[in-house]
Amino acid sequence: MMTYHAFLIKYAEIGIKGKNRILFENALIAQIKIALKKCEGKFRTDRSSGRIFVYCESDYDFDEVVTNLSYVFGIAGICPVVILPRELTVQELRERVTEIFGEEYPDRRHTFKFMTRRLDKNFPVDSMEMNAQFGESILDAFPETKVDVHQPDILVHVEIRERIYVYSHILPGPGGLPVGVSGKGMLLLSGGIDSPVAGWMCAKRGMKLDAVYFNAPPYTSERALQKVIDLARVVSRYTGPIYLHNINFTKIQLYIYEKCPHDELTIIMRRYMMRLAEMIARRTKCDALITGESIGQVASQTTRSLGVTNAVCTLPVFRPLIAFDKEDIVTISKKIGTFETSILPYEDCCTIFVAKHPVTKPVLDVIQRHEHNLDEQIGAMVQEALDTDEILIVDRDHVTKAKTREDSIPEGY
Ligand code: ATP
Ligand code: MG
Repeated sequence: MMTYHAFLIKYAEIGIKGKNRILFENALIAQIKIALKKCEGKFRTDRSSGRIFVYCESDYDFDEVVTNLSYVFGIAGICPVVILPRELTVQELRERVTEIFGEEYPDRRHTFKFMTRRLDKNFPVDSMEMNAQFGESILDAFPETKVDVHQPDILVHVEIRERIYVYSHILPGPGGLPVGVSGKGMLLLSGGIDSPVAGWMCAKRGMKLDAVYFNAPPYTSERALQKVIDLARVVSRYTGPIYLHNINFTKIQLYIYEKCPHDELTIIMRRYMMRLAEMIARRTKCDALITGESIGQVASQTTRSLGVTNAVCTLPVFRPLIAFDKEDIVTISKKIGTFETSILPYEDCCTIFVAKHPVTKPVLDVIQRHEHNLDEQIGAMVQEALDTDEILIVDRDHVTKAKTREDSIPEGY
């Protein structure tokens, strides 16, 4: 296989200008550096003439680097680059480029085109002329190939800078915006299919993620928590470490069960989840809540139910899956790697206390009135749940417990 000396990182530039562009590029470079830390080898990430390059300064594993970069939101394409010395004569350069072409495209039935950019004007031949000369060398060496200037199979870029960069492959990146440019969201993460996808989608638009899981031991097992951790771990490949707040919700759930009409259990429980999530979100400086809700999926996700749930929140609630069919959500979860874990059978805290006939058209006043049945103890229970918040720092390769609560609050906000 060809040895590449660098990777040119392509990103979608439309709409990012001026100051935003610098922020975007800095965030992207920061995320690329984090991704490369996971790879064997020494790398340098640099911006030069409005492009981002990753230079490989030691041996490295090509597949490992490409895989890790393919998790970095903001990257539209990854181009492996061969770098040649600037000292080559024009003839030598033609020969080297022909060799590279021959090695990269052993099947000769391709059409091709050259795109030379002469950034170093001291180079004796201009770009148009170089395109012609490279074309001639390729046609001489591989007569089965053809030039096609309109829709070539292969577009070979040659950039003449302080050294000479040659690249023609573009490997797809995940697109989106680099994590960190769009603030931070508190993801309500259950063990299901939807919420990890919802988190991933917001991260793809540049949001950093924290997560909260409402746990109901002993009604839910240790394995249900493990499942949520595993899901957070998969999502963290894209987002970097996720602070996962494991909240003991059992007392609150039992109390609602005891005091409120059973057909309203789910909706009242959902309202308490959102209230708690928002309290943690405010403490940890999140800008929004994120859920995996989708219109009509279950009784608690009818349009009315969503409205009643939403009424307890003052932070914006992002529901990226709101209009998605389950099938389309499943497709994304398979693509991002959460599906296999999501379908493991461990019970979720909501499934234990579900009523046979939950309300589908709850009325806010009525729900609020019934919530007053909880007045006596709910305040203390909510406080206890917050005070016993167990914070796990979930990374792709390991999980650690946050030592102090302050650990989960970012500096400089
Ligand atoms: P999911 O597939 O994400 O579990 P779901 O289809 O099971 O969703 P619900 O159980 O009604 O739907 O939950 C709706 C949303 O509420 C979830 O997407 C998630 O964001 C949040 N949620 C539900 N249960 C929990 C929980 N135990 N802990 C944290 N968030 C939860
Ligand atoms: Mg669920």
